[in-house]
Formats: sequence, C-alpha cells, structure tokens
Amino acid sequence: MSKKIAILGSTGSIGTQALDIISKFSCFQVKALSAHSNIALLNEQIMKFKPECITITDKDSYKNFFNQYKHNIKVYSGTEGLKEMISSLDVDIILIAIVGIAALEITYYALSQGIDVALANKESVVAGGELVTSMAQKTGANILPVDSEHSAVFQCLQGCTDKREIENIYLTASGGPFKDHDILELKKVTANEALQHPNWDMGDKVTIDSSTLMNKGLEVIEAMWLFNVDLDKIKVVIHPQSIIHSMVEFIDGSFLANMAMPDMRIPILYALSYPKRMPTGIKLNLYDVGTLTFEQPDFERFPCLRLAYEAAQIGGTMPTALNAANEIAVQKFLAGSIGFTDIPKLIEKVMNYHLNDIIYNPSIQNILDIDRTLKEMLR
Ligand code: MN
Repeated sequence: MSKKIAILGSTGSIGTQALDIISKFSCFQVKALSAHSNIALLNEQIMKFKPECITITDKDSYKNFFNQYKHNIKVYSGTEGLKEMISSLDVDIILIAIVGIAALEITYYALSQGIDVALANKESVVAGGELVTSMAQKTGANILPVDSEHSAVFQCLQGCTDKREIENIYLTASGGPFKDHDILELKKVTANEALQHPNWDMGDKVTIDSSTLMNKGLEVIEAMWLFNVDLDKIKVVIHPQSIIHSMVEFIDGSFLANMAMPDMRIPILYALSYPKRMPTGIKLNLYDVGTLTFEQPDFERFPCLRLAYEAAQIGGTMPTALNAANEIAVQKFLAGSIGFTDIPKLIEKVMNYHLNDIIYNPSIQNILDIDRTLKEMLR
C-alpha cells in the first residue's frame, strides 16, 4: 500500500501528531502541507517530509516565509490558495486538521472534488453537517472521522450494513477536571484549573470545551450527521478513564466498544490507513487499567451539553450560533474577562437572540456570515 496524502493544518496539535505517526511508515507520501502562521515549524516539516506544495493561509506569514526561507516548491496563500492547491493535487486522502469554521469551505471543496477526507475539524460538521454529508454522498468521497469518539463509532460500525440495527450510540466523555467539583464553587474556577485535562493532550480551546462538556455537545451534533442517526439515539456517558472511546448498542442488546490508550495518533492513523490497520506500538495494558466506570452526565452541572442538544434539535443555523458563541465565550474565559459558569449563560443568550434569524438549509455563505456577525457582535 502506498498512500499520497495532504495534511492541512500541519503545525497544529492534530497535524503534528499526524506527521509524527506517519513518519514511522514508508507507505505514506506527504504531497502537501498547509499552515496558518507557524512558518518556523512549517519550514522544519518541509525539510523533513519534502512536500511538492504548501499553503500559508495568513497573508503576513506568507510574505515572511519568502524573506526567511528558500524552498524550491510551489507556495499558495490564503483560503483561495488552499482550494487552488487541492485542485492541483493528486492525492488519495486529505487530512483536514485546520482549526475553526474556515475549514468548512475547504472540507466541502475537497469532497466536491471526490477526494476522501480524514476529518479532524469539528466545525465543518457541526455547522455544515447537511452540506458536507450530502456532498460526500453525491461524489462518493468518504469522510473518515479522526475525532477519537467518532473514529470509535466508525470502527464499531464496520460490518453493519443496516443502520436500523443501531439502538444507541454512546459517546464517552472523561467528565473533565470538574466532574466532582462542588457545583456552587464552579463559578470560581480559573482558566488554569480548567486547562488541566486528566487524560488527553489537546489545545487550549478543546481543553476548556472538555471541562464544560461543550466538546461532547459538539460531538453529539457531529455524530448525528456523520452516522445519520436520530438525535435521541445519541447518548453521552461519563467514563473518567478514557479507555473506551465510544460504543454502539445494537437492537439485539449487544454493545461494541472501541478501546485503546487515549492517544490521538491511533484514530489519526486509522483514518489515513483505512481500511487497513497498522502497528503503532501504542499499547493498552488492561492489567494496569483495572477498572472501567460509567456515570450519567449531569446536565445541571454541564449546561453546555443541554444547549448543544437543544441547538441540534432546533437545527438550521442554530448549531452555527452555538459554536460561534462558545468560541467567543471560551476566549473571554481564557482572557479572564468572564467566569466559568458565564460560558453557558453567554451561549444561551446568543441562541435566544439567534432564534429569530435562523436559516434552514443554509448555504456555506449563510453559515460563514452568521458565524462572523455573531462573533463581531460578541467581541
Ligand atoms: Mn473527541
């Protein structure tokens, strides 16, 4: 097997872990990379992986790149450049590890070209679930989930040819650092406390989202679209050990679960090597783990989870509003300008405000406009 791949967002948390794991195998050929502004790291990656072309999406970083580095490769700039690069590429799969709503356009474009996508970006599916899944269906391109929970569900569904056999999908959540915190004391927790994630190594935004359970809320919406199941069949279960990455309950009462060490390199590699599996050397020792536990999530402690279900239920552009409001709320919390319990309050306010402006069956432009307008209003 030889696979030609492009990694978009190669200097971020997922991008660097992807390059780390694929560097262990000779069958992957990195044809293209993209980064927003971390040109120093991008330069190192170019020397190591020798792509044919790159894109730098930040305009100033694009200019600085030419002043600082000399590479004999094609360099594109901006989101338009990313699309140009994709259309010129001959690749088997594109890993989309770009952070934020900007990835929606790119995911949609790659799928429209019939290219398989390993999708690490949540916003593309949360805000544009209907658009990207119907485009994938139209062109026959595959969306391979990279998010660990969705990779787990995807793996549990291998061999399931009739989705009516699915009774429930259980997304596991670690519960974050405040699972057992005094609920009345939650309003006093600091950004530093929230940034201590017990099991996963992630960026700041996702770590805060894990502590509020908004991350799981967004993943519920993601699962609804990726697996085309009703919202009421997607459940969340608190599983503090983060060994089971998600489960599928079937109509006969059987559960299938995916277990592994909480290491993103496993789901990343599975998406890139699918349908094959490859040796990662990342071993789970069951004797060391000992006990696995499960708890029901507390919607009062974690209002963000309730808001995400509500946004999914309402549909249209409400998940876009939920996501935009959450992004700004998290930024404000990290900057110390609002408290931890203000995060869901701000999101709920924005959702109520957006109720009058919902667009059903939105275009990509509708989604991007609503995202931008709400963020400008909240900043
Ligand atoms: Mn996840």
